[in-house]
Amino acid sequence: MSFESFFNPKSVAIVGASRQKGKVGYEILSNMISAGYKGKIYPVNSQTNEIEGLKCYPNLESIGSAPDLVILVIPAKVVPEIMHQCAKIGTKSVVIITAGFKEVGKEGKALEEKVVQIAREAGIRIIGPNCLGLIVPSNKVNASFGGDLPAAGGVAYLSQSGALLAAILDIANANFIGFSKLISIGNKADVDELDLIKALSKDKETKVIAGYLENITDGDAFVRQAEQISNIKPILLIKSGGTSAGAKAASSHTGSLAGSETAYESAFERSGIIRCESIKQQFDYAQAFANQPLPAGTRVAVITNAGGPGIMAADAVERTGLTFAKLDEGTVKKLGAVLPPAANLYNPIDVLGDALAERYSFALTTVLDDPNVDAVLILLTPQAMTEAKATAEAIVKISHEKPQKPIFTCFLGASKVAEGVRILREGKIPQYDSTGGAVTTIMVMTEYKRWKSKPKRIVKLFPVNRRRVENIVERHIRHGIREVGETEAKEILEAYGFVTPKGSIATTADQASNIAEQLGFPVVLKIWSPDILHKSDVGGVKVGLKSEQEVKDAFDLMMYRIPKKKPDADILGVLVQEMCSRGKEVILGMNRDPHFGPLMMFGMGGIMVEVLKDVSFHLAPLTANEARQMLLDTKTYKILKGVRGQEGVDIDKIAEGLQRLSQLVTEFPQILEMDINPYVVGPVGSTPIAVDARMSLEV
Ligand code: ADP
Ligand code: MG
Repeated sequence: MSFESFFNPKSVAIVGASRQKGKVGYEILSNMISAGYKGKIYPVNSQTNEIEGLKCYPNLESIGSAPDLVILVIPAKVVPEIMHQCAKIGTKSVVIITAGFKEVGKEGKALEEKVVQIAREAGIRIIGPNCLGLIVPSNKVNASFGGDLPAAGGVAYLSQSGALLAAILDIANANFIGFSKLISIGNKADVDELDLIKALSKDKETKVIAGYLENITDGDAFVRQAEQISNIKPILLIKSGGTSAGAKAASSHTGSLAGSETAYESAFERSGIIRCESIKQQFDYAQAFANQPLPAGTRVAVITNAGGPGIMAADAVERTGLTFAKLDEGTVKKLGAVLPPAANLYNPIDVLGDALAERYSFALTTVLDDPNVDAVLILLTPQAMTEAKATAEAIVKISHEKPQKPIFTCFLGASKVAEGVRILREGKIPQYDSTGGAVTTIMVMTEYKRWKSKPKRIVKLFPVNRRRVENIVERHIRHGIREVGETEAKEILEAYGFVTPKGSIATTADQASNIAEQLGFPVVLKIWSPDILHKSDVGGVKVGLKSEQEVKDAFDLMMYRIPKKKPDADILGVLVQEMCSRGKEVILGMNRDPHFGPLMMFGMGGIMVEVLKDVSFHLAPLTANEARQMLLDTKTYKILKGVRGQEGVDIDKIAEGLQRLSQLVTEFPQILEMDINPYVVGPVGSTPIAVDARMSLEV
């Protein structure tokens, strides 16, 4: 859809415009007028003839033509009626400021649905309801009651919280940050974040899309499209909690470890979205992305007039994984020829406390020309001779002359640097009040660049036996059985290329010892009951049984003890299983997120997973790289690789297991959660074994 009449309306009607100062209907009209809007404004109010010198219309029809944009500031219950009028006159774009819809409960929700229905039938698009409005600085549109029109710039902002947008406006105006669009999306009854992000990705003015979201309407579509859009423009989002995916009793480890926040994190990672922790951080990033080129690499040069901040910046560079640029010999020579003898000619370049604007200028130009430098950070402290204003002007000028490499500044101080800060911000130089803020921003930009240049995602498909899985899954669903037992879960896994230990069920001690005899010693005995999910917890797993007698004794003991511990459990017998050779136990798992689909998990397995919670997540389907990255993302990765002479395990086989599992849960959306715990892995070349598996289905 086109957002042209939202973003660039030739005429705007405000239904519910008011003469009374302080009322929203007055504030919006007055904001439109004082913004200097050049199009036609039609206040609509049947009680009065004129507001703020503008002719007032009793209703929309009396205007005589269809305004491009209609803003509704009327009581909720009359919104449907006015929507019918919009439909009649042919307006296609409506912003509903009015509250009292979905957010107030059932009745409000019904009212909202009615409004959306009228809109859909008439081909009208709605922003809101329950929102603060819409601001487009370049077109002098301030159809909001949020505050003064900010400067025009490259940052688009969309916010699910109206009040927050008002705060953002205030911060932005105080810090000279310019916007392309500011949109309060309210209840998202019709237009949602994805519609807007798509529109903004095509908007020439918008260089970076920033936003505050509490939830995402359609997670699946969002991930797919945001991934494409992130390749065009960076997306910076603050995502607050609030949407618990409906607390359900998770029966798998993965289910209990994966909260809805984990799914959001993975979704953002997959789509290249840069997640911000605070408004401040978001603007730290936004001003750089909007106004500076991406650094070609990670090598940072620092120019400073004081030692302390230089060291702080160096520490921050180290901490964030950036590199301190090693200046070219030619650069050092050039600097040495002009800077005073006491100056430090190596990175961080210390131009000394008495540096005037000219010395900064020279150092900056010289360093920007150095082929070993990807980004420059200029630090300034207001000392006796410092020329903050002139230095800022010089930096802005040089940034125009040499626009290829990004420049960042950190003018430390308050009133003494205020004028300089204003000049920098207006001159599109990202300016920070801490070295850490500046350096983190450079790091985030390099990460984004790396994300953009990564190879296309290719998901490998393994040859599998889908029919076999279909049979088992369908049979369970037909009978309303949610939990798939260990043997059938393993059958499913085998169909997808996993190896599981051999074994069968015994109902008597003699049967158990016969099976053991056939399998060969040692064996493992496991209690067999649909009611016992965690077998070890009730003494239901006995490993390393070396003789017929040991098997019989273990059987008898389990049958004696477990019914006492679990009197309600239906005990069907024991599983006699071959014992796998020693290896490391890891867990491979999946939890299906209601918004984003299957979320894969990897971690150190066995009982460790519950205690250490050292796990990593990624949305399925996984590529080989993503699977490997999941391993790298855990602290225990080093142990798997092998430490201090201990032999490592076959890392690639674990990654392959994750990919196979990812294929299974992608092809079978009926599987809600599952884990393989433990997945026992041995040295390179050995075959990992899925020792225990659990799976629940949507029935
Ligand atoms: P549960 O998780 O229900 O307690 P498991 O089948 O995972 O039961 O067994 C618990 C632990 O016993 C495993 O983590 C593993 O260390 C060990 N174990 C179970 N089966 C085997 C086997 N076949 N070979 C080797 N060790 C096993
Ligand atoms: Mg287990």
